[in-house]
Amino acid sequence: EEPHEHADGAGHTCHCEESAPEGARIGLKKSGCHGFCEMGPLLRIDPEGLLYIKVKVEDCEEIIERSILKDEIVERLVYQDQSLKSYPRQEDIPFYKKQTRVALEYCGHINAESVREYIAVGGYSAVAKALFDMTPQQIVDEISDSSLRGRGGGGFPTGRKWAQVLRQPEEIKYVVCNGDEGDPGAFMDRSMMEGEPHRVLEGMIIAGIATGAHYGYIYVRAEYPLAVSRLQNAIDQAMEMGLLGDNILGSGFGFTVKISQGAGAFVCGEGSALTSSIEGNRGMPRVKPPRTVEKGLFEKPTVLNNVETFCNVAPIILKGADWYKTMGPENNHGTKAFALTGNVNNTGLIEVPMGTTLREVIFDIGGGVKGGSFKAVQIGGPSGGCLCISATEDHLDMHLDFDSLKKVGAMIGSGGLVVMNDKSCMVEVARFFMNFTQNESCGKCVPCREGTKRMLELLTDITEGRGTMEHLDMLEELSQTISDTALCGLGKTAAFPVVSTMKYFRDEYISHVVDKK
Ligand code: SF4
Repeated sequence: EEPHEHADGAGHTCHCEESAPEGARIGLKKSGCHGFCEMGPLLRIDPEGLLYIKVKVEDCEEIIERSILKDEIVERLVYQDQSLKSYPRQEDIPFYKKQTRVALEYCGHINAESVREYIAVGGYSAVAKALFDMTPQQIVDEISDSSLRGRGGGGFPTGRKWAQVLRQPEEIKYVVCNGDEGDPGAFMDRSMMEGEPHRVLEGMIIAGIATGAHYGYIYVRAEYPLAVSRLQNAIDQAMEMGLLGDNILGSGFGFTVKISQGAGAFVCGEGSALTSSIEGNRGMPRVKPPRTVEKGLFEKPTVLNNVETFCNVAPIILKGADWYKTMGPENNHGTKAFALTGNVNNTGLIEVPMGTTLREVIFDIGGGVKGGSFKAVQIGGPSGGCLCISATEDHLDMHLDFDSLKKVGAMIGSGGLVVMNDKSCMVEVARFFMNFTQNESCGKCVPCREGTKRMLELLTDITEGRGTMEHLDMLEELSQTISDTALCGLGKTAAFPVVSTMKYFRDEYISHVVDKK
């Protein structure tokens, strides 16, 4: 491209034309998230892979001048940060070194608003392969063989879900992408929708080919306006290129996608509430069965997967299940994206092979704990629990995968990872998550609607110095009752943060109560 002027969505203007030395040919593109939030704004120079951090508008001229002086390329190193000066390439920076990017492969590397760039890196070739070289059953088998499990929280085998929809005799079926990411601190799906929207579409189209579905919906929360506009742009571009529509790539197979915007209710991340919301009804979970694969959206068989799951589909179809299984332990293959936040030096968006230990994530990638020593990590959002170092347990060498976490009463959830140092009050942490869940309870069933309210009152009493030992007994009893009797996952898992903090940090609860007998 010729040098020219850009204005980004936030109204900032980069005067690259003015800054570029005469005769220089420089292209500037807006990419998706690079992940290294702590060091943003980030600017990457390709093809060298050089990463500038904490870039200011006034730095642009110098960066451009240095970038065209090829002899100095190694000298420039990473901008403004002494500690990173020995890592000239982005991939060599410790934050990135232990990461493996599959779902986030193109985030931060291509222009998210250009279908041509996506095609140039191999985009949509998995759709072509699925259409012309594979039968629907072969696609389902490949996904099943890869043992890809849903990345939205439950970890249900994706191939099994697709096989169930493929078996349904109905003519009309749907593919729904769950982009209703609502966990506090989580932004993995948002980054994928903003940074590689065509990758999301590609996964959905392949799901349609595999199951015989011709209609897709992306349910994305309205608080993600950039994700909505980039997804819409991607849909429009794909339609123009014949990658969506009545006759994809001349194959005779048709698939269209619409966006449905959610109003930000956490419960709409639950499958039946989500489909109800798309239908125009109030987003409330319903009793199952029937399951979504049999009667989902508009009572038709529906494939419902989250954004990250769809982003794993195209590479599996292209590279094969055996390649995918080289990452992660048995039955937990592949990678997982996490939003690393809290008291950690390198906050950001990361993706690691399943089975990576908590120690590697916090210390090697996260650069260690900020403001104190490691105490705990809250994983899996409001439905998750705490992993920790306590008097009885040291979870730092715990493997981050579905099955290992389940054994200790935690879950990956959608991938929120909040690190806490030794100054964090675990009762306050439990109260924070209970407050969130209570606010988000849809109110349909009594155990969740009333039970979470009572639990929040008990936790508030404890944190404000009015708690007694009886409060602790009642918390335990309510936790059990709610998880046994609530209708949907939100209620069933609402007490997890309380249960895990009471298990590992009971002494902190006791130190808060008035009557310690
Ligand atoms: Fe609604 Fe809570 Fe019942 Fe789920 S468990 S249906 S969120 S009241």
